[in-house]
Amino acid sequence: MLTDKEQFKAAFVNRLLALHRKTLEEASLGEKYDALASLVRDSIGRRWVNTDYQYAKTAEKQLYYFSIEFLPGRLLDQNLRNIGVRDLWVEALNELGLDYGDLENQEPDAGLGNGGLGRLAACFLDSMAALGLPGHGCGIRYQYGLFEQKIIDGNQIEQPDNWMKNFNLWEYRREDKAVKVKFGGHLNTVLAVPYDLPIIGFANNTVNTLRLWSAELPRDLTVILSSLTPDDANKAVQHKYSVEALSQILYPDDRYQEGRTLRLAQEYFLVSAGVQSIVRYVKKTHGGITHLAEKAAIHINDTHPALAIPELMRILMDDEGLGWEDAWRITANTFSYTNHTVMPEALEKWPVDTVQNLLPRIYEIIHEINERFCRELWKRYPGDWDRIAAMAVTAYGYVKMAHLAVVGSHSVNGVSKIHTEILKQDVLKLFYQHAPSKFNNKTNGINHRRWLVEDNPQLSRFITETIGDNWIFRPVDLGRLTASADNPEFQQKLKAIKRERKIILARYINGKYGVEIDVNSIFDVQIKRIHAYKRQLLNALRIIDLYDRLKANPDLDVIPRTFIFAGKAAPGYVLAKKVIKLINTLAKVINNDAAVNNKIKVVFIENYGVSLAEIIIPAADVSEQISTAGTEASGTSNMKLMMNGALTVGTMDGANIEIKEAVGIENIIPFGLSVEEIISVCGYSGCDPRTVYNNNPRVRQVVDRLVDGTLPFAADEFHILYDHLVYGDGHFMELNDFDAFLAAQEKVDILFRDEKAWWKIITLNISKSGLFSSDYTVNEYARHIWRIRPVEIKDKLESPVEKVGDAKDRPGLNNVGFGAL
Ligand SMILES: *Cc1c(COP(=O)(O)O)cnc(C)c1O
Repeated sequence: MLTDKEQFKAAFVNRLLALHRKTLEEASLGEKYDALASLVRDSIGRRWVNTDYQYAKTAEKQLYYFSIEFLPGRLLDQNLRNIGVRDLWVEALNELGLDYGDLENQEPDAGLGNGGLGRLAACFLDSMAALGLPGHGCGIRYQYGLFEQKIIDGNQIEQPDNWMKNFNLWEYRREDKAVKVKFGGHLNTVLAVPYDLPIIGFANNTVNTLRLWSAELPRDLTVILSSLTPDDANKAVQHKYSVEALSQILYPDDRYQEGRTLRLAQEYFLVSAGVQSIVRYVKKTHGGITHLAEKAAIHINDTHPALAIPELMRILMDDEGLGWEDAWRITANTFSYTNHTVMPEALEKWPVDTVQNLLPRIYEIIHEINERFCRELWKRYPGDWDRIAAMAVTAYGYVKMAHLAVVGSHSVNGVSKIHTEILKQDVLKLFYQHAPSKFNNKTNGINHRRWLVEDNPQLSRFITETIGDNWIFRPVDLGRLTASADNPEFQQKLKAIKRERKIILARYINGKYGVEIDVNSIFDVQIKRIHAYKRQLLNALRIIDLYDRLKANPDLDVIPRTFIFAGKAAPGYVLAKKVIKLINTLAKVINNDAAVNNKIKVVFIENYGVSLAEIIIPAADVSEQISTAGTEASGTSNMKLMMNGALTVGTMDGANIEIKEAVGIENIIPFGLSVEEIISVCGYSGCDPRTVYNNNPRVRQVVDRLVDGTLPFAADEFHILYDHLVYGDGHFMELNDFDAFLAAQEKVDILFRDEKAWWKIITLNISKSGLFSSDYTVNEYARHIWRIRPVEIKDKLESPVEKVGDAKDRPGLNNVGFGAL
């Protein structure tokens, strides 16, 4: 590895010549990025092979994390830090007259996910590598990531995210590891080719693998089109397209069941390829398949990979010749499942005939799993037909994926304490009663190396100056900052860093949209997918209310605020897209109204993703976590914002509750109805929103603004939002929580005025945020679910790579030298 600056510079210049036949002066930024990334790649290969070798040699159990989404973001900076050369190389680049930030910006975001689910998977992989845990990812190499969001006339426009148009230097095509995936019907046989991405450990020698599968036409089916009749050639081309469609696009829909056969085919493609390659590895490495569950753990991240369960059954029975009982014992001991949602409409289910037509053998196995499970239930609850029907894997013409995942796994977990309770008491109640020991909680986490060290180097440096750098290895050590919470000098420095980050964000916003925002204002941030349950609409209503009050009383004593939103809506989600339009409309009206625009501004930053989050989060003062209680399984942007010094305004939902427990009720602003209150006030069917609308004049005024023509937009533009709020089922309680939300915001102002109190709270939030590092989360999974242990990867090994050794160690070469030959 290049740990000498001059050597690095020479290598960099040489690499430009080798890759692009260009000199430093001639090369474009993109070409320079290539050279830099490819130098990182040079230092990965050896460690990667060493890691594989050690895992095989120690015969340790390994974990495979199956997920239909991975959202790693950019990898250059992370990889440079993890191999430990970042600062040195950045300096060397500077000396070459290059700006490292410019090169970094050349990398497209790997956006192979919709939001939290995929980002969680990425954080877990990073944490596992940092802890030296033998854990790998398994996903799909989508040609197109989540769509690119453009805002035109206030509306979301979706454009394809062609993130792979340039060669992706982080991936290694492994054609020799390809497997065949078989479907019923016209798809028949598809070749799954793995592309491996290195997941580099921090300050250790571990390199784990994220294996992404790409769908291709099997070689033996590749025909020479010119030799076919036009009709057959046409069919062949069609077939090629439908095969490649399997890894073409990520479904831009993170909540609703997508009734598309292609989605189901993608799910099977992923799990069949993944399970086959694990089985092949275990057989080769451990000499057989009977101990599979002792050598491999497979985790199902939400239900999309649940077909892995019948797929492993198929392989064990049809290919390996095991009987049902043996195969089932191995399967159930191998799999574990995380539930990510309690929204009934988001619980995945597939029509039986769709499954049957596409995957006839898999359906037979699912059917048999269901038969046997129902027989077991019948023995335990004789005559209780209702219970059995409610728990069946296939019922009323559908395959219920969550039921399949629960029945076929030895562990089922939720992602925050309250979410796990809701699973046990409500959504999966019958399964909990049937097998309580399967259920456990693993509160989500975030990788603090990505979400503090990397996104906020200013703050990280300051923390290290204050308490040393051990917190990077042991994030709860951030707790040592507590001692500085009241220290005026510390507070002033913290404030200066926040200001620096707010200036960076303000420049970004000004550069992109020409909107000037006041860095002395409170940066009030809500960034996440746009969804009714996340209630961006409630936030928008509050802005309308504040705008109204400021118009009525220009001297109203409020602290200036900048409302910052970012997030994508599913392309078919009409309500969510209207919310985007509303926010952009408010931005246009308010930002151009001289009567208020020195007090409030509204900004919607387009195309939310990991890289944008890395700019917004360090600049945030207030973190809006305002989902209806009982709807957000955990949330993770709440943790990222806390870690970067923002105060949470939050409902008692998901991990907000645990944030409150960690930091203390006086250091967060909780508001709104709790799950228990919602149930006692409204029952399970939701409240009639008209009660609030009719009885609360302030609510009525603000809701009427959407349709009364007083704001400058067509009166029917936002009618569906009005109807949702007033005539909807009231499920999301926007109006019920409105007053409490306003009161919470007044508290923010009061605290912000008291500078000492504010920076103390911010310090305490940062200091308690280490608890939410995904290092702890994956450690819990590793110990209690996967039962895997860290493997120390030594620098020097007797692996095949090390045996070859460096050229200088070659016998004879150094002693004699070429000159003597
Ligand atoms: C963290 C993160 C999310 C999850 O945000 P929530 O507020 O928990 O929904 C979604 N998208 C991106 C890009 C993220 O980094």
